[in-house]
Amino acid sequence: MQPERLLLGTEDCLAYSYDNSKRSVMPQAVALCVNAKEVADLLRVCHERAIPVTARGRGTNTTGASVPIAGGLVISLERMQRIIEINTADRYAVVEPGVLNGDLQAALKPLGFFWPPDPTSAPFSSIGGNLACNAGGPRAVKYGACRDNILALQAVDGRGERFSSGALTSKHSVGYDLTRFLVGSEGTLGIITQATLKLVPLPTAKRALRLLFARIEDAAAAVARIMAQPVTPCALEFIDRESLALVRARGVNLPAGDALLLVEVDAEASALDAACNAVLNAAQGPGLTDVLVAHDETQTDTLWAARKALSPALRSLAPKKINEDVVVPVSRLPELIAGVDVLARQHALRIVNFGHAGNGNIHVNLMIDPSDPVAANAAAHCLDDLFALVVSLHGTLSGEHGIGLAKRDYMPRAIDAHTLGLMRAIKTVFDPKGILNPGKLLPL
Ligand SMILES: Cc1cc2nc3c(=O)[nH]c(=O)nc-3n(C[C@H](O)[C@H](O)[C@H](O)COP(=O)(O)OP(=O)(O)OC[C@H]3O[C@@H](n4cnc5c(N)ncnc54)[C@H](O)[C@@H]3O)c2cc1C
Repeated sequence: MQPERLLLGTEDCLAYSYDNSKRSVMPQAVALCVNAKEVADLLRVCHERAIPVTARGRGTNTTGASVPIAGGLVISLERMQRIIEINTADRYAVVEPGVLNGDLQAALKPLGFFWPPDPTSAPFSSIGGNLACNAGGPRAVKYGACRDNILALQAVDGRGERFSSGALTSKHSVGYDLTRFLVGSEGTLGIITQATLKLVPLPTAKRALRLLFARIEDAAAAVARIMAQPVTPCALEFIDRESLALVRARGVNLPAGDALLLVEVDAEASALDAACNAVLNAAQGPGLTDVLVAHDETQTDTLWAARKALSPALRSLAPKKINEDVVVPVSRLPELIAGVDVLARQHALRIVNFGHAGNGNIHVNLMIDPSDPVAANAAAHCLDDLFALVVSLHGTLSGEHGIGLAKRDYMPRAIDAHTLGLMRAIKTVFDPKGILNPGKLLPL
Protein backbone atom coordinates (compact mmCIF):
# COMPACT_ATOMS: atom_id res chain seq x y z
CA MET A 1 0.00 0.00 0.00
CA GLN A 2 1.26 3.49 -0.83
CA PRO A 3 2.87 5.09 2.24
CA GLU A 4 0.75 8.27 1.90
CA ARG A 5 -2.34 6.17 2.60
CA LEU A 6 -0.92 4.85 5.87
CA LEU A 7 -1.39 7.62 8.43
CA LEU A 8 0.86 7.62 11.48
CA GLY A 9 0.92 11.24 12.64
CA THR A 10 -1.02 12.27 15.74
CA GLU A 11 -3.04 14.95 13.92
CA ASP A 12 -3.99 12.52 11.12
CA CYS A 13 -4.93 9.72 13.53
CA LEU A 14 -6.98 12.06 15.74
CA ALA A 15 -9.69 12.37 13.09
CA TYR A 16 -10.20 8.59 13.28
CA SER A 17 -10.18 8.35 17.08
CA TYR A 18 -13.86 9.21 17.70
CA ASP A 19 -17.36 8.77 16.37
CA ASN A 20 -20.75 10.32 17.06
CA SER A 21 -20.72 8.79 20.56
CA LYS A 22 -18.14 11.53 21.38
CA ARG A 23 -15.83 8.90 22.89
CA SER A 24 -12.24 9.09 21.68
CA VAL A 25 -9.24 6.72 21.79
CA MET A 26 -6.22 7.21 19.55
CA PRO A 27 -5.28 4.45 17.11
CA GLN A 28 -1.59 3.84 16.36
CA ALA A 29 -2.16 3.99 12.61
CA VAL A 30 -4.88 4.50 10.02
CA ALA A 31 -4.93 2.76 6.63
CA LEU A 32 -6.96 4.34 3.84
CA CYS A 33 -7.54 1.17 1.82
CA VAL A 34 -8.63 1.33 -1.81
CA ASN A 35 -9.35 -2.35 -2.52
CA ALA A 36 -10.09 -5.72 -0.90
CA LYS A 37 -6.55 -7.00 -1.44
CA GLU A 38 -5.13 -4.19 0.68
CA VAL A 39 -7.66 -4.94 3.43
CA ALA A 40 -6.74 -8.65 3.33
CA ASP A 41 -2.96 -7.99 3.30
CA LEU A 42 -3.25 -5.73 6.34
CA LEU A 43 -5.51 -8.11 8.24
CA ARG A 44 -3.09 -10.98 7.61
CA VAL A 45 -0.26 -9.00 9.19
CA CYS A 46 -2.47 -7.87 12.09
CA HIS A 47 -3.57 -11.48 12.67
CA GLU A 48 0.05 -12.67 12.79
CA ARG A 49 1.01 -9.95 15.28
CA ALA A 50 -2.30 -9.83 17.18
CA ILE A 51 -2.86 -6.13 16.40
CA PRO A 52 -6.40 -4.83 17.04
CA VAL A 53 -8.23 -3.58 13.92
CA THR A 54 -11.26 -1.30 13.81
CA ALA A 55 -13.14 -0.89 10.52
CA ARG A 56 -14.45 2.59 9.88
CA GLY A 57 -16.99 4.00 7.47
CA ARG A 58 -17.76 7.63 8.29
CA GLY A 59 -17.82 7.47 12.10
CA THR A 60 -21.46 8.58 12.42
CA ASN A 61 -22.60 5.75 14.70
CA THR A 62 -23.82 6.73 18.13
CA THR A 63 -22.61 3.78 20.23
CA GLY A 64 -18.81 4.05 20.11
CA ALA A 65 -18.72 1.15 17.62
CA SER A 66 -15.97 2.68 15.48
CA VAL A 67 -13.84 4.06 18.34
CA PRO A 68 -10.56 2.07 18.36
CA ILE A 69 -10.71 1.41 22.11
CA ALA A 70 -7.83 -1.08 21.99
CA GLY A 71 -5.64 1.22 19.86
CA GLY A 72 -3.99 -0.59 16.94
CA LEU A 73 -5.01 -0.03 13.33
CA VAL A 74 -8.08 1.70 11.91
CA ILE A 75 -8.97 0.48 8.43
CA SER A 76 -10.95 3.25 6.80
CA LEU A 77 -13.13 2.23 3.86
CA GLU A 78 -13.93 5.83 2.85
CA ARG A 79 -11.87 5.59 -0.35
CA MET A 80 -13.66 2.45 -1.60
CA GLN A 81 -16.39 4.51 -3.22
CA ARG A 82 -17.27 2.79 -6.49
CA ILE A 83 -20.79 1.87 -7.51
CA ILE A 84 -19.71 -1.18 -9.51
CA GLU A 85 -22.98 -2.20 -11.14
CA ILE A 86 -26.65 -1.31 -11.12
CA ASN A 87 -28.86 -4.01 -12.61
CA THR A 88 -32.54 -3.03 -12.68
CA ALA A 89 -33.73 -6.25 -14.40
CA ASP A 90 -32.29 -8.36 -11.59
CA ARG A 91 -32.95 -5.60 -9.07
CA TYR A 92 -29.53 -5.31 -7.46
CA ALA A 93 -26.65 -2.87 -7.09
CA VAL A 94 -23.07 -3.91 -6.38
CA VAL A 95 -21.15 -1.32 -4.37
CA GLU A 96 -17.94 -0.83 -2.45
CA PRO A 97 -18.43 -0.23 1.28
CA GLY A 98 -17.39 3.43 1.29
CA VAL A 99 -20.20 4.56 -1.04
CA LEU A 100 -22.42 7.02 0.84
CA ASN A 101 -26.03 5.90 1.19
CA GLY A 102 -27.22 9.24 -0.24
CA ASP A 103 -24.95 8.95 -3.30
CA LEU A 104 -26.35 5.51 -4.08
CA GLN A 105 -29.94 6.79 -3.75
CA ALA A 106 -29.10 9.68 -6.12
CA ALA A 107 -27.72 7.23 -8.69
CA LEU A 108 -30.77 4.96 -8.40
CA LYS A 109 -33.50 7.61 -8.52
CA PRO A 110 -33.32 8.41 -12.26
CA LEU A 111 -33.63 4.66 -12.92
CA GLY A 112 -36.84 4.49 -10.86
CA PHE A 113 -35.35 2.47 -7.99
CA PHE A 114 -34.17 2.92 -4.41
CA TRP A 115 -32.36 0.99 -1.68
CA PRO A 116 -34.76 0.95 1.29
CA PRO A 117 -32.49 1.65 4.31
CA ASP A 118 -32.83 5.43 4.85
CA PRO A 119 -31.08 6.56 8.05
CA THR A 120 -31.33 10.30 8.61
CA SER A 121 -27.54 10.21 8.26
CA ALA A 122 -27.87 8.92 4.64
CA PRO A 123 -26.01 11.88 3.06
CA PHE A 124 -22.94 11.28 5.22
CA SER A 125 -22.94 7.61 6.33
CA SER A 126 -21.46 4.74 4.31
CA ILE A 127 -23.15 1.60 3.02
CA GLY A 128 -20.51 -0.50 4.85
CA GLY A 129 -21.32 1.27 8.13
CA ASN A 130 -25.06 0.97 7.45
CA LEU A 131 -24.72 -2.79 6.90
CA ALA A 132 -22.44 -3.30 9.90
CA CYS A 133 -25.02 -1.58 12.18
CA ASN A 134 -28.12 -2.97 10.39
CA ALA A 135 -29.20 0.65 9.98
CA GLY A 136 -32.75 1.62 9.18
CA GLY A 137 -34.94 4.68 9.04
CA PRO A 138 -38.56 5.71 8.58
CA ARG A 139 -39.06 3.45 5.53
CA ALA A 140 -38.16 0.31 7.51
CA VAL A 141 -41.78 -0.07 8.63
CA LYS A 142 -42.75 -1.08 5.09
CA TYR A 143 -39.46 -1.99 3.37
CA GLY A 144 -37.24 -3.29 6.18
CA ALA A 145 -33.72 -2.35 7.35
CA CYS A 146 -30.34 -3.49 5.94
CA ARG A 147 -30.75 -7.14 6.84
CA ASP A 148 -33.93 -7.30 4.73
CA ASN A 149 -32.30 -5.63 1.72
CA ILE A 150 -29.04 -7.46 1.13
CA LEU A 151 -28.30 -10.23 -1.37
CA ALA A 152 -24.58 -10.92 -1.12
CA LEU A 153 -21.34 -9.77 0.49
CA GLN A 154 -17.62 -10.02 0.01
CA ALA A 155 -15.56 -9.64 3.16
CA VAL A 156 -12.23 -10.39 4.85
CA ASP A 157 -12.13 -12.36 8.10
CA GLY A 158 -9.85 -11.91 11.12
CA ARG A 159 -7.13 -14.12 9.58
CA GLY A 160 -6.98 -11.95 6.48
CA GLU A 161 -8.84 -14.52 4.34
CA ARG A 162 -11.28 -13.20 1.75
CA PHE A 163 -14.71 -14.87 1.56
CA SER A 164 -18.09 -14.31 -0.07
CA SER A 165 -21.64 -15.14 0.87
CA GLY A 166 -25.09 -14.97 -0.72
CA ALA A 167 -25.98 -14.82 -4.42
CA LEU A 168 -27.22 -12.36 -7.04
CA THR A 169 -30.62 -14.06 -7.07
CA SER A 170 -33.59 -12.83 -5.03
CA LYS A 171 -33.95 -16.32 -3.53
CA HIS A 172 -31.44 -19.01 -2.76
CA SER A 173 -31.13 -21.82 -0.27
CA VAL A 174 -27.52 -22.92 -0.05
CA GLY A 175 -25.97 -23.39 3.34
CA TYR A 176 -25.70 -21.05 6.31
CA ASP A 177 -26.64 -17.41 5.79
CA LEU A 178 -23.29 -15.75 6.46
CA THR A 179 -24.54 -12.57 4.80
CA ARG A 180 -26.99 -11.91 7.59
CA PHE A 181 -24.40 -12.90 10.20
CA LEU A 182 -22.23 -10.06 8.96
CA VAL A 183 -25.04 -7.51 8.79
CA GLY A 184 -25.29 -5.98 12.27
CA SER A 185 -21.98 -7.53 13.40
CA GLU A 186 -20.36 -4.08 13.80
CA GLY A 187 -17.03 -5.08 12.28
CA THR A 188 -16.46 -7.87 14.82
CA LEU A 189 -16.64 -10.80 12.35
CA GLY A 190 -15.13 -9.40 9.16
CA ILE A 191 -14.56 -6.30 7.08
CA ILE A 192 -17.07 -5.90 4.27
CA THR A 193 -15.33 -5.06 0.99
CA GLN A 194 -18.26 -5.35 -1.44
CA ALA A 195 -22.03 -5.55 -1.08
CA THR A 196 -24.81 -6.60 -3.44
CA LEU A 197 -27.91 -4.71 -2.37
CA LYS A 198 -31.53 -5.50 -3.12
CA LEU A 199 -33.26 -2.72 -5.09
CA VAL A 200 -36.94 -1.77 -4.92
CA PRO A 201 -38.89 0.21 -7.57
CA LEU A 202 -39.82 3.72 -6.48
CA PRO A 203 -43.56 4.01 -5.83
CA THR A 204 -45.35 6.27 -8.32
CA ALA A 205 -47.28 8.25 -5.69
CA LYS A 206 -46.89 9.22 -2.03
CA ARG A 207 -48.87 11.28 0.45
CA ALA A 208 -47.99 12.50 3.94
CA LEU A 209 -50.51 12.92 6.77
CA ARG A 210 -50.05 14.78 10.03
CA LEU A 211 -52.18 13.55 12.92
CA LEU A 212 -52.33 15.35 16.26
CA PHE A 213 -53.54 13.67 19.43
CA ALA A 214 -54.63 15.07 22.78
CA ARG A 215 -52.54 12.57 24.72
CA ILE A 216 -49.46 10.48 24.05
CA GLU A 217 -51.34 7.29 24.92
CA ASP A 218 -53.95 8.15 22.25
CA ALA A 219 -51.24 8.40 19.58
CA ALA A 220 -49.60 5.15 20.72
CA ALA A 221 -52.95 3.36 20.54
CA ALA A 222 -53.53 4.78 17.03
CA VAL A 223 -50.18 3.34 15.87
CA ALA A 224 -51.31 -0.11 16.96
CA ARG A 225 -54.64 0.34 15.09
CA ILE A 226 -52.89 1.53 11.90
CA MET A 227 -50.51 -1.44 11.95
CA ALA A 228 -53.37 -3.87 12.54
CA GLN A 229 -54.95 -3.14 9.11
CA PRO A 230 -53.64 -4.26 5.68
CA VAL A 231 -52.21 -0.99 4.25
CA THR A 232 -48.67 -0.59 5.63
CA PRO A 233 -47.57 3.05 5.61
CA CYS A 234 -44.05 3.71 4.24
CA ALA A 235 -43.38 5.84 7.33
CA LEU A 236 -45.11 6.05 10.70
CA GLU A 237 -43.23 8.42 12.95
CA PHE A 238 -44.09 9.49 16.48
CA ILE A 239 -43.28 12.80 18.19
CA ASP A 240 -44.02 13.41 21.89
CA ARG A 241 -45.01 16.56 23.81
CA GLU A 242 -41.45 17.70 24.61
CA SER A 243 -40.43 17.28 20.97
CA LEU A 244 -43.52 19.20 19.84
CA ALA A 245 -42.52 22.06 22.14
CA LEU A 246 -39.15 22.16 20.34
CA VAL A 247 -40.85 22.17 16.94
CA ARG A 248 -43.22 24.96 18.05
CA ALA A 249 -40.26 26.93 19.45
CA ARG A 250 -38.77 26.82 15.95
CA GLY A 251 -41.78 28.75 14.64
CA VAL A 252 -43.85 25.85 13.30
CA ASN A 253 -47.50 26.58 13.90
CA LEU A 254 -49.27 23.51 15.26
CA PRO A 255 -52.78 23.07 16.67
CA ALA A 256 -53.08 21.97 20.30
CA GLY A 257 -52.09 18.41 21.09
CA ASP A 258 -49.54 16.46 23.09
CA ALA A 259 -48.45 13.93 20.47
CA LEU A 260 -48.07 13.83 16.72
CA LEU A 261 -47.94 11.04 14.18
CA LEU A 262 -46.36 11.72 10.82
CA VAL A 263 -47.60 9.09 8.40
CA GLU A 264 -46.60 8.58 4.80
CA VAL A 265 -48.44 6.27 2.44
CA ASP A 266 -47.10 5.18 -0.95
CA ALA A 267 -48.87 3.28 -3.71
CA GLU A 268 -49.60 3.31 -7.41
CA ALA A 269 -51.23 6.69 -8.16
CA SER A 270 -54.59 5.08 -8.88
CA ALA A 271 -54.61 3.29 -5.51
CA LEU A 272 -53.32 6.14 -3.35
CA ASP A 273 -56.67 7.63 -2.26
CA ALA A 274 -57.95 4.28 -1.06
CA ALA A 275 -54.69 3.51 0.76
CA CYS A 276 -54.71 6.89 2.54
CA ASN A 277 -58.35 6.49 3.52
CA ALA A 278 -57.66 3.07 5.01
CA VAL A 279 -54.89 4.53 7.18
CA LEU A 280 -57.00 7.54 8.17
CA ASN A 281 -59.94 5.32 9.13
CA ALA A 282 -57.65 3.24 11.32
CA ALA A 283 -56.24 6.38 12.96
CA GLN A 284 -59.72 7.59 13.98
CA GLY A 285 -60.26 7.06 17.67
CA PRO A 286 -60.09 8.69 21.08
CA GLY A 287 -57.99 11.86 21.27
CA LEU A 288 -57.45 12.54 17.53
CA THR A 289 -57.73 16.34 17.45
CA ASP A 290 -56.40 17.41 14.07
CA VAL A 291 -55.64 15.91 10.63
CA LEU A 292 -53.59 17.61 7.92
CA VAL A 293 -53.10 15.95 4.53
CA ALA A 294 -50.14 17.26 2.50
CA HIS A 295 -51.27 17.82 -1.06
CA ASP A 296 -47.97 18.61 -2.73
CA GLU A 297 -44.27 18.08 -2.35
CA THR A 298 -43.65 21.42 -0.62
CA GLN A 299 -46.21 20.65 2.08
CA THR A 300 -44.77 17.14 2.47
CA ASP A 301 -41.24 18.54 2.82
CA THR A 302 -42.45 21.00 5.49
CA LEU A 303 -43.99 18.17 7.50
CA TRP A 304 -40.77 16.13 7.30
CA ALA A 305 -38.46 19.09 8.00
CA ALA A 306 -39.89 19.36 11.53
CA ARG A 307 -39.24 15.65 12.19
CA LYS A 308 -35.72 15.68 10.74
CA ALA A 309 -34.72 18.81 12.67
CA LEU A 310 -35.60 17.19 15.98
CA SER A 311 -32.43 15.25 16.65
CA PRO A 312 -30.05 18.25 16.28
CA ALA A 313 -32.60 20.59 17.98
CA LEU A 314 -32.38 18.48 21.15
CA ARG A 315 -28.92 19.89 21.73
CA SER A 316 -30.58 23.18 22.71
CA LEU A 317 -32.28 21.45 25.68
CA ALA A 318 -29.24 20.15 27.55
CA PRO A 319 -25.49 19.79 27.02
CA LYS A 320 -25.80 16.02 26.52
CA LYS A 321 -28.41 13.66 25.17
CA ILE A 322 -28.20 9.96 25.88
CA ASN A 323 -29.92 8.63 22.81
CA GLU A 324 -31.39 5.13 23.15
CA ASP A 325 -33.28 3.45 20.33
CA VAL A 326 -35.23 0.77 22.10
CA VAL A 327 -37.82 -1.31 20.30
CA VAL A 328 -40.98 -3.10 21.44
CA PRO A 329 -43.79 -4.91 19.61
CA VAL A 330 -46.05 -2.17 18.24
CA SER A 331 -49.00 -3.27 20.38
CA ARG A 332 -46.88 -2.63 23.53
CA LEU A 333 -46.07 0.99 22.55
CA PRO A 334 -48.68 2.52 24.88
CA GLU A 335 -47.07 0.65 27.81
CA LEU A 336 -43.57 1.73 26.75
CA ILE A 337 -44.56 5.39 26.49
CA ALA A 338 -46.39 5.31 29.83
CA GLY A 339 -43.45 3.47 31.44
CA VAL A 340 -40.89 6.00 30.18
CA ASP A 341 -43.04 8.79 31.63
CA VAL A 342 -42.94 7.07 35.03
CA LEU A 343 -39.13 6.65 34.78
CA ALA A 344 -38.67 10.33 33.94
CA ARG A 345 -40.54 11.27 37.12
CA GLN A 346 -38.87 8.61 39.28
CA HIS A 347 -35.37 9.70 38.25
CA ALA A 348 -36.19 13.43 37.96
CA LEU A 349 -34.91 13.51 34.37
CA ARG A 350 -36.09 15.27 31.24
CA ILE A 351 -36.80 12.58 28.63
CA VAL A 352 -37.79 13.35 25.04
CA ASN A 353 -39.25 10.61 22.84
CA PHE A 354 -39.73 10.35 19.11
CA GLY A 355 -39.05 7.84 16.41
CA HIS A 356 -40.13 5.07 14.14
CA ALA A 357 -43.37 4.07 15.84
CA GLY A 358 -44.45 1.75 13.00
CA ASN A 359 -41.58 -0.56 14.02
CA GLY A 360 -42.13 0.07 17.74
CA ASN A 361 -38.67 1.73 17.61
CA ILE A 362 -38.61 4.80 19.84
CA HIS A 363 -35.66 7.12 20.34
CA VAL A 364 -35.71 7.74 24.07
CA ASN A 365 -33.46 10.74 24.73
CA LEU A 366 -32.29 11.39 28.28
CA MET A 367 -31.31 15.06 28.43
CA ILE A 368 -28.62 15.72 31.03
CA ASP A 369 -25.80 17.98 32.06
CA PRO A 370 -22.87 15.55 32.38
CA SER A 371 -21.04 17.91 34.73
CA ASP A 372 -23.86 17.39 37.25
CA PRO A 373 -22.96 14.12 39.07
CA VAL A 374 -26.52 13.71 40.42
CA ALA A 375 -28.00 13.86 36.92
CA ALA A 376 -25.31 11.54 35.50
CA ASN A 377 -25.99 9.00 38.26
CA ALA A 378 -29.75 9.27 37.77
CA ALA A 379 -29.31 8.71 34.02
CA ALA A 380 -27.29 5.52 34.61
CA HIS A 381 -30.01 4.10 36.88
CA CYS A 382 -32.74 5.24 34.53
CA LEU A 383 -31.08 3.46 31.57
CA ASP A 384 -30.95 0.25 33.55
CA ASP A 385 -34.66 0.58 34.35
CA LEU A 386 -35.46 1.49 30.75
CA PHE A 387 -33.82 -1.67 29.39
CA ALA A 388 -35.58 -3.77 32.04
CA LEU A 389 -38.90 -2.20 31.00
CA VAL A 390 -38.27 -2.84 27.31
CA VAL A 391 -37.32 -6.49 27.87
CA SER A 392 -40.39 -6.97 30.10
CA LEU A 393 -42.49 -5.77 27.14
CA HIS A 394 -40.83 -8.41 24.89
CA GLY A 395 -38.80 -5.75 23.14
CA THR A 396 -35.04 -5.33 22.89
CA LEU A 397 -32.18 -2.89 23.35
CA SER A 398 -31.73 -1.43 19.89
CA GLY A 399 -33.82 -1.15 16.74
CA GLU A 400 -31.16 0.31 14.44
CA HIS A 401 -28.18 1.94 16.18
CA GLY A 402 -26.61 -1.31 17.38
CA ILE A 403 -24.71 -2.14 20.55
CA GLY A 404 -21.12 -0.94 20.17
CA LEU A 405 -19.62 0.04 23.46
CA ALA A 406 -22.58 1.97 24.85
CA LYS A 407 -24.92 -1.00 25.26
CA ARG A 408 -22.43 -3.87 25.39
CA ASP A 409 -22.78 -4.45 29.11
CA TYR A 410 -26.58 -4.54 28.86
CA MET A 411 -26.51 -7.44 26.36
CA PRO A 412 -27.14 -10.09 29.07
CA ARG A 413 -30.46 -8.36 29.76
CA ALA A 414 -31.64 -9.15 26.23
CA ILE A 415 -29.71 -12.31 25.28
CA ASP A 416 -29.47 -15.40 27.51
CA ALA A 417 -26.09 -16.83 28.56
CA HIS A 418 -26.20 -19.85 26.25
CA THR A 419 -27.04 -17.73 23.20
CA LEU A 420 -24.27 -15.26 24.10
CA GLY A 421 -21.93 -18.29 24.28
CA LEU A 422 -22.95 -19.28 20.73
CA MET A 423 -22.27 -15.73 19.55
CA ARG A 424 -18.81 -15.80 21.16
CA ALA A 425 -18.08 -19.15 19.49
CA ILE A 426 -19.09 -17.73 16.10
CA LYS A 427 -16.80 -14.74 16.67
CA THR A 428 -13.89 -17.12 17.37
CA VAL A 429 -14.43 -18.95 14.08
CA PHE A 430 -14.31 -15.71 12.07
CA ASP A 431 -11.63 -14.05 14.20
CA PRO A 432 -9.59 -16.58 16.23
CA LYS A 433 -7.31 -14.01 17.85
CA GLY A 434 -10.10 -11.53 18.60
CA ILE A 435 -8.44 -8.66 16.69
CA LEU A 436 -11.61 -7.39 14.95
CA ASN A 437 -13.14 -4.46 16.82
CA PRO A 438 -12.27 -5.93 20.23
CA GLY A 439 -14.41 -4.93 23.21
CA LYS A 440 -17.50 -4.15 21.12
CA LEU A 441 -20.93 -5.76 21.00
CA LEU A 442 -20.18 -8.86 23.15
CA PRO A 443 -19.90 -8.28 26.93
CA LEU A 444 -16.42 -9.02 28.22
C1 LIG B 1 -27.48 12.92 12.61
C2 LIG B 1 -27.48 11.40 12.62
C3 LIG B 1 -28.64 10.75 12.29
C4 LIG B 1 -28.67 9.35 12.31
N1 LIG B 1 -29.82 8.72 11.96
C5 LIG B 1 -29.85 7.37 11.93
C6 LIG B 1 -31.05 6.69 11.52
O1 LIG B 1 -32.05 7.31 11.19
N2 LIG B 1 -31.03 5.34 11.51
C7 LIG B 1 -29.92 4.62 11.84
O2 LIG B 1 -29.96 3.39 11.76
N3 LIG B 1 -28.79 5.24 12.25
C8 LIG B 1 -28.71 6.58 12.28
N4 LIG B 1 -27.56 7.21 12.68
C9 LIG B 1 -26.41 6.40 13.12
C10 LIG B 1 -25.34 6.12 12.01
O3 LIG B 1 -25.41 7.08 10.99
C11 LIG B 1 -25.48 4.73 11.44
O4 LIG B 1 -25.19 3.78 12.44
C12 LIG B 1 -24.59 4.44 10.22
O5 LIG B 1 -24.98 3.19 9.71
C13 LIG B 1 -23.10 4.42 10.51
O6 LIG B 1 -22.41 4.48 9.26
P1 LIG B 1 -20.91 4.98 9.18
O7 LIG B 1 -20.47 4.92 7.76
O8 LIG B 1 -20.78 6.31 9.81
O9 LIG B 1 -20.17 3.85 10.00
P2 LIG B 1 -19.19 3.99 11.26
O10 LIG B 1 -19.83 4.82 12.30
O11 LIG B 1 -17.85 4.39 10.80
O12 LIG B 1 -19.12 2.47 11.74
C14 LIG B 1 -20.20 1.85 12.35
C15 LIG B 1 -19.86 0.40 12.65
O13 LIG B 1 -19.67 -0.29 11.43
C16 LIG B 1 -18.38 -0.88 11.35
N5 LIG B 1 -17.99 -0.80 9.95
C17 LIG B 1 -17.94 0.31 9.17
N6 LIG B 1 -17.62 -0.03 7.92
C18 LIG B 1 -17.47 -1.38 7.91
C19 LIG B 1 -17.15 -2.34 6.91
N7 LIG B 1 -16.90 -1.99 5.65
N8 LIG B 1 -17.09 -3.64 7.26
C20 LIG B 1 -17.34 -4.03 8.52
N9 LIG B 1 -17.65 -3.18 9.51
C21 LIG B 1 -17.71 -1.87 9.19
C22 LIG B 1 -17.53 -0.09 12.32
O14 LIG B 1 -16.44 -0.85 12.80
C23 LIG B 1 -18.55 0.21 13.40
O15 LIG B 1 -18.66 -0.93 14.23
C24 LIG B 1 -27.50 8.61 12.69
C25 LIG B 1 -26.34 9.30 13.02
C26 LIG B 1 -26.32 10.68 12.98
C27 LIG B 1 -25.04 11.37 13.34
